[in-house]
Amino acid sequence: MLKSSGIAQKGDWEAKLPQAERRKSGPYVVFECYQQIPCNPCESACPQKAVSIGADINTIPRIDYGLCNGCGICVSRCPGLAIFVVDEGYAPGFAKVLIPWEYRPLPAKGESVMGVGRDGKELCPAEVLEVRTGKRQDRTAVIGLQVPLEFANLVRGIKVGGGKDER
Ligand code: SF4
Ligand code: SF4
Repeated sequence: MLKSSGIAQKGDWEAKLPQAERRKSGPYVVFECYQQIPCNPCESACPQKAVSIGADINTIPRIDYGLCNGCGICVSRCPGLAIFVVDEGYAPGFAKVLIPWEYRPLPAKGESVMGVGRDGKELCPAEVLEVRTGKRQDRTAVIGLQVPLEFANLVRGIKVGGGKDER
């Protein structure tokens, strides 16, 4: 249970995924935002207007998957580090996952890291495909990872260079 453990369980995060057809059709955002809190930067960050919260800032964001193109711009805007992008068709047998990352040093493109789950446990090796930094990102970088397809919605953090577990 999310409420008792503080960690999203299978039923929690599965409910945040788009329909199977949409998951096959290209990268999609996953908002692992579960609680009604006064927060909405994700809504204004999306250039596609795919995120809606509305007048009540406590509303949990809703995603229009017909509009989301998986660009990942919203990933670094979430103070809760709750937004990810998954591309299940990235390469045969592999998915690409965008995760927010606030630790230093940053991993480098091409580096091999360890993908970890929501509970910080090691899951699988991952390759760093890209590192998005810059003014737009503020202090939250966005790391693009290649992971085995079966881990596409399990890997939500990384361990770099034998460092501590993150996320
Ligand atoms: S991934 Fe891009 S298009 Fe999708 S919700 Fe985020 S900002 Fe909008
Ligand atoms: S910015 Fe993040 S924490 Fe805030 S409402 Fe959006 S998804 Fe939830």
